[in-house]
Amino acid sequence: MRVAMISEHASPLAVLGEEDAGGQNTHVAELAAALVDEGHDVRVYTRRDSATLPEAVPTPYGYQVWHVPAGPPRRVPKDELLPYLGEFGSWLADTWRRGDWTPEVAHAHFWMSGLATVHAGRRIGVPTVLTYHALGTVKRRHQGTMDTSPPGRIGYERALGRAADRIIVQCADEVRELVRIGVPRSRMTLVPSGVNQQVFRPDGPAAPRGPSGPRILTVGRMVERKGFLDVVRALPAVPHAECVVVGGPPADLLAADTFARRLSAAAESCGVGDRVKLVGGVPREEMAAWYRSADVLVAAPWYEPFGLTPLEGMACGVPVIGTNVGGIADTVVDGLTGDLVPPRDPRALSTAIRRLLADKVRRFAYATAALDRIRCLYSWKRCAEQLGGVYAAVATLTRPAQAVV
Ligand code: UDP
Repeated sequence: MRVAMISEHASPLAVLGEEDAGGQNTHVAELAAALVDEGHDVRVYTRRDSATLPEAVPTPYGYQVWHVPAGPPRRVPKDELLPYLGEFGSWLADTWRRGDWTPEVAHAHFWMSGLATVHAGRRIGVPTVLTYHALGTVKRRHQGTMDTSPPGRIGYERALGRAADRIIVQCADEVRELVRIGVPRSRMTLVPSGVNQQVFRPDGPAAPRGPSGPRILTVGRMVERKGFLDVVRALPAVPHAECVVVGGPPADLLAADTFARRLSAAAESCGVGDRVKLVGGVPREEMAAWYRSADVLVAAPWYEPFGLTPLEGMACGVPVIGTNVGGIADTVVDGLTGDLVPPRDPRALSTAIRRLLADKVRRFAYATAALDRIRCLYSWKRCAEQLGGVYAAVATLTRPAQAVV
């Protein structure tokens, strides 16, 4: 099928680890490649955020990335993009109507892409699928007045839940959240993300380590909700271990990052400054080596729409301690493939880390069971196959082109 994927702020070509570049970029890149492997013809549409970007870029994986001129050709924080989504949607509709390539299905990633996609899809009669990736209700609950989402986000998400032809959810928690805002369960299909098992595998090079002490690794964008402060606060009760934090701006720019500075200050005040190492953001190709270098991966977010990093750690054969939130509650089976602890609880975290670091047999058992789970349930091929079924089903819907006001 001809599949359009719309990911307005998260380009599959972006460098990851910075504030607005993380799991969604990986998801779109891996999914597009897996859909191509399944025989689909895939184009990814993302906002043109630099004047030097060409309109269309072929990738070695067989899909194309199209840069949509909507808003200024420079980086704009995602929470400020809403005013440009109408322009984005109109451009899609015009291009699909005019050009020689009209998709049979358009799959939007994130609610703002959903707005542009439903707008374009309705104008020219293309069925639409939406993956939210993150929900405004959850963000509001956890971030309160710090939430910079555009006002009206939750209302738009509710409306999109009925306007798109199919909603793809990634975990059981997301189903509950969407039902709570009024999206019917019958409109949703659960398709979890995958992990690239050629890249994330137990064998292969590992990042260098110091001479002594176990290594705790934690990975993610430098934002408070990833729970890095909780990991640092757990460290005084885990003697001798070093804590390596991967993510954020590249190493040479870390000193200018407000949250990285806060993290270092917290480590100093907890008396563990010498045991916390901030690596900064690293290219996707180097991630597997960092996972393999660790004795345990700690994923301690306050909330997590899905969470690719625990899956990547599991696929590299590293035992995972995660917080019992969002997608992590589905991917990590407590006591079987890893440990789950409550969010924002450094004491529970330190108890779990101490116990796991002291028990080599348990670490081995978790890692083995986790690898099994990954191989059975979390490949991008499986994800692409399931989505292929959804696309085929929505493509049979007759949807005449209609004017949208
Ligand atoms: N990542 C990366 N380099 C970094 C930090 C993270 O390539 O320095 C990747 C990581 O491997 C994962 C993604 O960014 O694929 C983060 O996804 P996750 O779902 O864990 O979090 P999100 O960023 O979506 O909140």
